[in-house]
Amino acid sequence: MHIVGAGLAGSEAAWQIAQRGVRVVLHEMRPVRMTEAHRTDAAAELVCSNSFRSDDAANNAVGLLHAEMRKLGSLIMQAADANQVPAGGALAVDREGFSGAVTKALNDHPLIEVRRGEIAGLPPDDWNNVIVATGPLTSAPLADAIRALTDESALAFFDAIAPIVHKDSIDMSVAWFQSRYDKAGPGGSGADYINCPMTKEQYDAFVDALLAGEKTDFRDWEANTPYFDGCLPIEVMAERGRETLRHGPMKPVGLTNPHDPTVKPYAIVQLRQDNKLGTLYNMVGFQTKLKYGPQQQIFRTIPGLENAEFARLGGLHRNTFLNSPKLLDAQLRLRAQSRLRFAGQMTGCEGYVESASIGLIAGLYAAANARGETLAAPPPTTALGALLGHITGGHIETVEPGARSFQPMNINFGLFPPLSQTPTKKPDGTRLRGNEKTVAKKQAMSARALSDLDRWIADHLRVAAAA
Ligand SMILES: Cc1cc2nc3c(=O)[nH]c(=O)nc-3n(C[C@H](O)[C@H](O)[C@H](O)COP(=O)(O)OP(=O)(O)OC[C@H]3O[C@@H](n4cnc5c(N)ncnc54)[C@H](O)[C@@H]3O)c2cc1C
Repeated sequence: MHIVGAGLAGSEAAWQIAQRGVRVVLHEMRPVRMTEAHRTDAAAELVCSNSFRSDDAANNAVGLLHAEMRKLGSLIMQAADANQVPAGGALAVDREGFSGAVTKALNDHPLIEVRRGEIAGLPPDDWNNVIVATGPLTSAPLADAIRALTDESALAFFDAIAPIVHKDSIDMSVAWFQSRYDKAGPGGSGADYINCPMTKEQYDAFVDALLAGEKTDFRDWEANTPYFDGCLPIEVMAERGRETLRHGPMKPVGLTNPHDPTVKPYAIVQLRQDNKLGTLYNMVGFQTKLKYGPQQQIFRTIPGLENAEFARLGGLHRNTFLNSPKLLDAQLRLRAQSRLRFAGQMTGCEGYVESASIGLIAGLYAAANARGETLAAPPPTTALGALLGHITGGHIETVEPGARSFQPMNINFGLFPPLSQTPTKKPDGTRLRGNEKTVAKKQAMSARALSDLDRWIADHLRVAAAA
């Protein structure tokens, strides 16, 4: 077995395959050839935020995906849990500790060989069980070869990187620690974010500066590339309307300024801990394509960040993904050449956790193939099955039949089949009202997912998943 790309998906796939007793070679081009965003030669490097988002398995779809991956013995989740840093209701990690732990586990596994070097074109013909997990920054020769094979122009779009600030350069006589609604979450204290308050005048001037600031130029081939809504640059949000940021990353809700408790800030900038030492904080939702000079100038107008020192400034990046419902079969194999299976962000999922989860299932499918078996798909009622359904175009009751334009997706409850019976009453027999119904519905979907996954594991996975 060969896997191309030791990112979030490729690392998880290699682990799953080796854990099922199959030998695997993991090819990674770094450090021989770097991507535009990776900085190290470590496996599963996190190129931007250090957050795996909500860890709430009962109420949040990505938290549920975490729980399912843990049940399946995920290496990525083991390394994340072992390296978490406080982040309110989210699971955030020390990025170096995390990717160091993944790298060590892969290197130490007797059935995994990590081979450094770019696969610059289609994998050799005599590799007959391959997973391609080269991610949003797949090197051009491989991307071109795949594009030629699929006879499609691969879709591409932009995300952007948020800046990281040295904590000791933040003025804490203006800013303060607090998580929204004081939510503690896994490993958090309820006061995990640094908050910078803005008056209406400061906010208006900030929006004007974002709109006027010089942006990175587009190249010809980039000109018509659309943004993915989940990762919009801050200045693009500002272009959509003066109030957009106040209702997005700069919303002033769930927070009280202890320096001036009676005055409600008009907008708030949040920074989240980025490393275990607590010396670096990233600006939440501040992805940007502003040039470096204007970035420093504009972000230093934020109260509390007047003297901010930036460990990393924001930047642009490209994304590449296949038209998977058309090009891949239900087991993530390329219809045009079934020895090639795809995993990770290239398949049209979005985010670290989702990419790793598709690596996990691709690894299970490939290991079953190598052992002469066929693995049934995880139930569509599970987060893993729902995401897979989105990618492979499987039957999902909430998606209308007929032609549709395939777009990358984070896991969300909209991808799950509806409940056969929507809860209407609380355990004590009283009627659910308003938002309580939505909460009860999510909780019922999560409970259904976890019990269906347990059954699938018991029925189909011979080797017991790690605890
Ligand atoms: C700049 C940037 C910022 C992002 N920000 C976030 C974020 O904040 N949060 C989030 O959840 N997601 C973010 N994403 C998306 C995130 O990168 C993906 O969700 C995740 O890393 C995808 O996992 P993957 O395994 O598919 O790809 P990757 O993790 O990128 O791994 C692919 C690997 O393949 C290697 N490779 C590429 N081509 C070849 C080749 N030809 N031969 C050998 N090796 C090759 C690469 O070096 C890399 O190690 C961001 C992406 C980018 C590019």
